[in-house]
Amino acid sequence: MPETKYAESDYMMISALQHIAVCPRQCALIHNERVWEDNLLTAQGELLHIRVDNGGTEKRGDLIQARTVRLNHPGLGITGIADMVEFRRITDPLDPKTGVRIATTLPNKHNWWIPCPVEYKRGRSKTDDWDRIQLCAQVLCLESMYELRMDRAALWYDSTKTREWVYIDSELRDKTLELVRQARILLDSGKTPPPVYDRKRCNACSLYEQCRPKDYAPDHAEKYYENLFHIVDP
Ligand code: SF4
Repeated sequence: MPETKYAESDYMMISALQHIAVCPRQCALIHNERVWEDNLLTAQGELLHIRVDNGGTEKRGDLIQARTVRLNHPGLGITGIADMVEFRRITDPLDPKTGVRIATTLPNKHNWWIPCPVEYKRGRSKTDDWDRIQLCAQVLCLESMYELRMDRAALWYDSTKTREWVYIDSELRDKTLELVRQARILLDSGKTPPPVYDRKRCNACSLYEQCRPKDYAPDHAEKYYENLFHIVDP
């Protein structure tokens, strides 16, 4: 069993990794200050997940699809919910090349099963790694929960209706672990960083109104306060 390091009350949501990758201020506002506001993008994402996250488990031959699966990793102190985890049946739990365990048993089922998270995403495949980092965090949780090693997982994109395989290599693992470390430091500090205005990122941010990045960003703050206290001579 993995060494238990964090109490459940100290777990951090896996979504914090995506949020800190986008903007540390957004991460602190959502996960420490509990500020949340839907915009068109978050509403579309929410609708997609309502369609997908209907719970329950389906079995088709050698494949089991479990929906809305709670994941956690006590050693890293992260938790989240996978849209779906697929389990594919095999007869030998060990990787024939490396001898590493790649499959688990399941209650009331014969043989061995290889887990694979499938995360449903709005839009199409992206050039940045945010979706892949979230998926890698899910893999780290499953590896910890089942004491095995996984080498791939999948993203399913709503716009293109395609499944993208993501290989969980050491580079992606390191990136994900580094974000876990950064998010932990940020959230434990209890501090919310000042905004850094970036037109593309901020205009897509659901917290734009609460954050007011143009008014409060350090570069703009001086001007903002000047305007705020500017007294017009009669
Ligand atoms: S509006 Fe910009 S600076 Fe503010 S939280 Fe969103 S992304 Fe970060």
